[in-house]
Amino acid sequence: MPDNCLFCRILKKEIPSKAVYEDDSVYAFEDINPQAPVHVLIIPKKHIATLNDIKQNDPVLAAIFEVAKKIAKDRGVADSGYRAVFNVNRDAGMAVAHLHLHLLGGRAMTWPPG
Ligand code: AMP
Ligand code: ZN
Repeated sequence: MPDNCLFCRILKKEIPSKAVYEDDSVYAFEDINPQAPVHVLIIPKKHIATLNDIKQNDPVLAAIFEVAKKIAKDRGVADSGYRAVFNVNRDAGMAVAHLHLHLLGGRAMTWPPG
């Protein structure tokens, strides 16, 4: 677990966060700079840098999506709609190299994304 990884530090509670959901393998918390009324980050508790680094059949990926479904339902956006996004590396504007699913909802969004 890299000492300098921001999200690993959040998991170790060295940096505060607003928890939304937690279990043995997954943590979800409010994005500090929300881009929509609902903007939750869902991360694996083990350090995985990006989607490129996920091992085939790693159950944590399904766990992350299950948590996204649950939070979308809890926040009332499951039917109105939401986005679930992994940014990967430079061209996607990835800023934190610890896998995180952005769950965004609560407003109409445009396509294509910027
Ligand atoms: P990305 O650009 O996909 O790497 O997204 C990183 C996200 O982490 C951005 O949406 C930031 O607003 C968010 N972020 C950065 N620092 C924190 C923090 N301390 N607590 C919560 N979210 C954060
Ligand atoms: Zn990390």
